[in-house]
Amino acid sequence: MTPGAGTGSGSLPPALREALERLAALPRPLVVLDFDGVLAPLVDDRDAARPLERSSAALAALAALDGDRAVDLALVSGRPLEPLVRLASPPEGTSLVGSHGAEVRLAGAQESSAPLDEAETALLADVVDRVRAVAGTHAGTDVETKPAGVVLHTRRAALDVASSAQRAVTDGPGRLPGVRAMRGKDVVELAVLDVDKGRSVQALRASTGADAVLYAGDDVTDEHAFAVLDPAAGDVGVHVGDGSTAAAHRVADPEAVADLLEHLLALRSR
Ligand SMILES: [Mg+2]
Repeated sequence: MTPGAGTGSGSLPPALREALERLAALPRPLVVLDFDGVLAPLVDDRDAARPLERSSAALAALAALDGDRAVDLALVSGRPLEPLVRLASPPEGTSLVGSHGAEVRLAGAQESSAPLDEAETALLADVVDRVRAVAGTHAGTDVETKPAGVVLHTRRAALDVASSAQRAVTDGPGRLPGVRAMRGKDVVELAVLDVDKGRSVQALRASTGADAVLYAGDDVTDEHAFAVLDPAAGDVGVHVGDGSTAAAHRVADPEAVADLLEHLLALRSR
């Protein structure tokens, strides 16, 4: 098989196909997707991440379904909203959650960033300084600032340098009162607001009045989202890739996510 050709719904485990069938039969399903490693293959240059064409096409077609076939769509990412929108180019009407929930743009609503109070603003400035100091002494690491947090990226660092830098951040500024540390793939993120993808999913569920939620994610930060899903009530959690997970289902890679979206589209269109 040539890369990008896709494998069709046959690549999806039977239990997942059944769960998708149940989801597609509900009046109002909500589809929530992580971006990196799910819609877009992971790449070293974070700015070069792009969704697979098949996934973009399936999302556009899902977004175009209307009436009693309509599906609510949302992207939930650790990235800030601006690069998420720029790189993902989501179809109109997609709800967007950036920075793990610190930035929210619900379909048809105003953008909202959870505002920081004075103490949180001062704490964030201190945390950014400390993380920059760590990056300054660890070659190949870099720092990304967000409205309510800061990220140390270590993907381009040598393995021992990466783990030493991650430790320095987790054990240093990550231990300050009011700071929440999250480790992901080649990243450590420190947030000064209490947000995570699980809370984001619950907020999306409430705002859309969804009957059930499909969530696909590949990283440890997505486990917060899987933890709020209720498979008995029709929710479908899909972990993308290897690694332990609380999700009920697993697929191999973003190509399989494209298969999943195409299959859901076919089920919802008939
Ligand atoms: Mg991801």
